Amino acid sequence: MGQDSFTPQKRSSTGGGLPTTNNAAAGGGRSRVLAGMPRGRQIHKTFNNIKITILCGFVTILVLRGTIGVGNLGSSEADAVNQNLIEETSRILAEIRSDSDPTDPDEPPETEINPNTTYTLGPKISDWDQQRKVWLSENPEFPNFVNGKARILLVTGSPPNPCDNAIGDHYLLKAIKNKIDYCRLHGVEIVYNMAHLDKELAGYWAKLPLIRRLMLSHPEVEWIWWMDSDAFFTDMVFEIPLSKYDKYNLVVHGYPDLMFEQKSWIALNTGSFLFRNCQWSLDLLDAWAPMGPKGSIREEAGKVLTANLKGRPAFEADDQSALIYLLLSQKEMWMDKVFLENQYYLHGYWAGLVDRYEEMMEKYHPGLGDERWPFVTHFVGCKPCGSYGDYPVERCLRSMQRAFNFADNQVLKLYGFRHRGLLGPNIKRIRNETVTPLETVDELDIRRSTHEKTETRS
Ligand code: UDP
Ligand code: MN
Repeated sequence: MGQDSFTPQKRSSTGGGLPTTNNAAAGGGRSRVLAGMPRGRQIHKTFNNIKITILCGFVTILVLRGTIGVGNLGSSEADAVNQNLIEETSRILAEIRSDSDPTDPDEPPETEINPNTTYTLGPKISDWDQQRKVWLSENPEFPNFVNGKARILLVTGSPPNPCDNAIGDHYLLKAIKNKIDYCRLHGVEIVYNMAHLDKELAGYWAKLPLIRRLMLSHPEVEWIWWMDSDAFFTDMVFEIPLSKYDKYNLVVHGYPDLMFEQKSWIALNTGSFLFRNCQWSLDLLDAWAPMGPKGSIREEAGKVLTANLKGRPAFEADDQSALIYLLLSQKEMWMDKVFLENQYYLHGYWAGLVDRYEEMMEKYHPGLGDERWPFVTHFVGCKPCGSYGDYPVERCLRSMQRAFNFADNQVLKLYGFRHRGLLGPNIKRIRNETVTPLETVDELDIRRSTHEKTETRS
């Protein structure tokens, strides 16, 4: 794994925005095709295209008249209906975004946070291990290990409001479909959160109060696995080697050298990590949160992080830099329970991976999880749901689409299909249907292949 695989720029707010209409994403292709043709042929071709367009238009009108009925909906009426729909949608969107919830008179007034006291995620809990142990023994119907496997809860989420752009919501949908598929195939539970449990910790900080809340509400869960909305599973077969982490409480993708020698702000990535449900994790969350409250605390903390972490641009405190800073400054206290994983891509930086999918498909197979077939491809800095990212919109969207199809092919294969290419939505059949489908069902079952592999390994 070369240095180039961890050179992402993260979270600074420069760069191109997402298109505000579909035109920007769709346009541009055609003129590129025509460039380079002789002028005579170009005119001829354009003329032909116009003829075909008129013909298509004519056929469409005929078909529409046939289905709707003559005089049922004139074009001006249809326009009016359409216009009305657009206006209604905009009105509802504005309403949703306006945050105009009624206030509850019984609710205590919101208190401003005091910058002189250390911010906390909630009342200090100090005997969680004991409380949880008692609960587990009293509730044997909710065991933390099922058939010898630790119970895992995958947690992800996105902002409460619609994305700035419809395409952003489309990719959130694709990303959650991808996670549901992985979790379903591997018996991992899943939570999707869209609420800000703590109004101080919005944005990338929202994961902290959420993880804490889920630990406390689900004592039966052994590992909480956070995964960003912009991270896709790209190896649908690979499973986290949990037995490797028996003695650890936090597993995060990272490089000890980048961390302790270089003090780099990208030494680890908080787009995909696992916390054991235990007292140690609650303590770490408490130690991690104080830089998070929005406003002056976050701004000032950002300056400390930029001053101390190599390569970090100047911006407000983010959860990733804050964790690196905490682990660096209190190494003795935490590091013996932190596993910095880099044997496989618990998080994989997209830019080094997405252009190699064809090569991977030619040479390797799912189940490897590393640079040969990355477990997770994370679109750091793309911000598909926001207005600004660090990379050109078109490159991000194309790459996300490729990652999605690459992963989805592994799911569709189970059912006898695959995408025609890595960019388009179309699929094709790869097996003929038979009247004895059970003959191949075991061989195709991902759960079975990982289960057998685990058995032969031990
Ligand atoms: N997120 C959330 N609620 C919010 C905003 C963000 O749950 O209101 C989550 C979302 O899953 C997102 C993650 O926080 O993927 C981290 O932000 P992002 O991926 O934009 O940061 P990057 O990985 O680009 O640094
Ligand atoms: Mn992310």
